Amino acid sequence: MFKKTLSFFVSCLLIASAAVAAKEPVNLAVIKHKLERYHDSGEYLHDISDVATKALRYLELRVERGDFKGKKPAIVLDIDETSLSNYPDMVRLDFGGTIEEIRQDEDKGTDEAIEPTLKLYRYAKAHHIAVFFITGRHEEERQVTEENLQKAGYLNHDGLILRSGDYKKAPASVYKTAMRNQLTEKGYDIILNMGDQQSDLRGGYADKTFKLPNPYYLIP
Ligand SMILES: [Mg+2]
Repeated sequence: MFKKTLSFFVSCLLIASAAVAAKEPVNLAVIKHKLERYHDSGEYLHDISDVATKALRYLELRVERGDFKGKKPAIVLDIDETSLSNYPDMVRLDFGGTIEEIRQDEDKGTDEAIEPTLKLYRYAKAHHIAVFFITGRHEEERQVTEENLQKAGYLNHDGLILRSGDYKKAPASVYKTAMRNQLTEKGYDIILNMGDQQSDLRGGYADKTFKLPNPYYLIP
């Protein structure tokens, strides 16, 4: 009987302490409002510009040194929220949407350039540094993605790499690391790799990585 009473008492204590410790998470509507304010205030673009400018300074330094380890110099860029912005579509889908809805939006081919990235791109091309796009978009989206990149100003890139075959189902970092490995096997020194997700950057095969902000979604 004593044991039962003690166990009841301990359970009550645990429930009471859990009730004290638990804190109501921030309301989703408040978070969405903050996400819009981060964009509309210009802070988002400012933070992107900050990172892309550091990437540009690093590339300038490497070009000045002419230090490419005897290999063909290249940079790697992700596409969505790195080179092209989906922001208007994200707002329209209220920062949600199904995979199909998101893909339909991508396939409109109307995404605008993220200017600080375009500046980095133009510097690279003007200095004979190859630029490769490695994207989580699928091979079936090649034509529309190619057209969108051209329209946004990413002219004469050196390769657009999309998910195909077994890589369609692989985790982003596994697929992207394998693609960078293939580039290094083709004789490229990837001077820098820039993306908005850690999964764009993990796994090596780049001298330096640059992580752009993206509080809008997560690709593990
Ligand atoms: Mg991205």
